[in-house]
Amino acid sequence: MDHSATTHVDKEVLEEMLPFFIKKFGNPSSLHAFGRETHEAIELARSRVAKSLGAKEEEIYFTSGGTEADNLALKGLAFKYLNEENKKTKRGKKKKIGHIITSSIEHPAILNVCKYLETLGIEVTYLPVDNFGLVDLEKLENSIREDTFLISIMTANNEIGTIQPIEEIGKIAKKNNIKFHTDAVQAFGKVNLDMSKLNVDLLSISGHKIYGPKGVGALYVRKGVELLPILHGGGHEHGIRSGTENVPGIVGLGKACELAQLRMDEDNTKLVKMRDALIKGVLEGVENSHLNGHPTKRLPNNAHFRFDYIEGEGLILNLDLLGIAASTGSACSQKALKPSHVLTAIGLKHEEAHGSLRLTLGRENTMDEVQYVIDGIKKSVNKLRLFSPLSKETYESEMARFRNQNENKKKEVEACTIQR
Ligand SMILES: *Cc1c(COP(=O)(O)O)cnc(C)c1O
Repeated sequence: MDHSATTHVDKEVLEEMLPFFIKKFGNPSSLHAFGRETHEAIELARSRVAKSLGAKEEEIYFTSGGTEADNLALKGLAFKYLNEENKKTKRGKKKKIGHIITSSIEHPAILNVCKYLETLGIEVTYLPVDNFGLVDLEKLENSIREDTFLISIMTANNEIGTIQPIEEIGKIAKKNNIKFHTDAVQAFGKVNLDMSKLNVDLLSISGHKIYGPKGVGALYVRKGVELLPILHGGGHEHGIRSGTENVPGIVGLGKACELAQLRMDEDNTKLVKMRDALIKGVLEGVENSHLNGHPTKRLPNNAHFRFDYIEGEGLILNLDLLGIAASTGSACSQKALKPSHVLTAIGLKHEEAHGSLRLTLGRENTMDEVQYVIDGIKKSVNKLRLFSPLSKETYESEMARFRNQNENKKKEVEACTIQR
C-alpha cells in the first residue's frame, strides 16, 4: 500500500535488463561491436520512452532518476537564462532578474532547486493551492511577469494524488511565451501524457515509480527548447548529460515505459475499483475520518485519509505490525516534528496533518488485501484512540471502564481469598 514510494521491478523488465550486466557490457561510446550493441539498446529504449509520451526520440534525455530530471529542467533553463542576461550586460544593456512560477505542493526535487536558484538571484513565486490541492489558474496568470521564463507545476501530487489541469496551464504558458515543465513522476503510466497534444516543453519521469529500476529516469525536452547541462564531461546525451550511460537501467526504463503504456487502461480500471472500495470502506467504517485531496481529480491508486484524535506515525507502526506498508503525509525530520508542506498548503492544521495516512495501490494488490487493510485501519485507529491524549472524552470514559473492571477484579480476588 505504498506504491508511490516505489514499486518492484516487473519480471519482463528485469529479463530485458539481465544480459546487459555480464554478456553485453560494452561502453556505448566504443566504436567496436561491443559498443555498438549497447548503443543500439539505448536507442531502442529511447524510442520506447519517446513513443510512450508521443514524443520524438531526440527529445528524450536519460538521467539518474526523477530528482536529476527535475534538477536538469529547472537549473538547465535557469543557467541558460542567466547566461543570456549576463551577455546582455557585457553589451551594456540592462539585464532582467528572471522569474519562475511553481506551486507550493511540489516534490522537494522542485522546491529545493527553486530555493537554490533564489540564492543565485532568480525570483520564484510559489502558488498557493485550494483545499483539494488544485492551483488557481487565475492566480497563475496574474503572477506572470515580463521576466518569467518558466512555469513548473507537477502533473499529479505524490502525497494527496491531486491531478493538476496541465492542459490549461500549458495553454497559458504558450500564450505568454513561457516554458512549461511538469514533474510527471507520479502521473506517468496513470494519466495520458501525449506531447504531440499538450503544450508541455519539459517533463520528468522516473523508472522506479513505474515498475522499472531505481536510479534511472528521463527528461523530455521539446525540440527547440535550449538548456545548459548541469553535468559536464564527455558530452553524452548531446552534451546535456555527460557520463557513461547506465545501460541496464536505461534498458529497464525503456521496457517499463512500454509496459506502462500497454497496461495503462487495464491497470487503471483495476486500481480505481480498489481505491474506491478502500475510500468507501474507511470513511464508512471509521468515525471521524476524512479524505484528503480531490474527490475525482486524483490518481487512480491514491487514497489519503485524515483521522481525528490520532497520530499518523502511531498508525503506521500499528499497520506495520499487521504487515501493511503505508506512509504518513508528514515527513518528520529528526529534530522537529514538522507536518508535510503539502498538507499545510491545503489548509490542514498541524494536528490534522499529523493524523494523516497515505495508501497507494499497485498493479498486484487485490480486493482481499483492500478488505484486510480496511479492517486493519479500523482496529488500529480504535486502539490508538483509546490511548490518544487528543481524544479526551474517549480516554476518560475508557479509564473509568478500566477502573471499574479493576475494582471488580479486586472484589473477585478478595472474595476468592476469603473463601480460601
Ligand atoms: C519519487 C518522485 C521524484 C523523485 O524521483 P527519484 O527517481 O526517486 O529521484 C520526483 N518527483 C515526484 C513527484 C516523485 O514522486
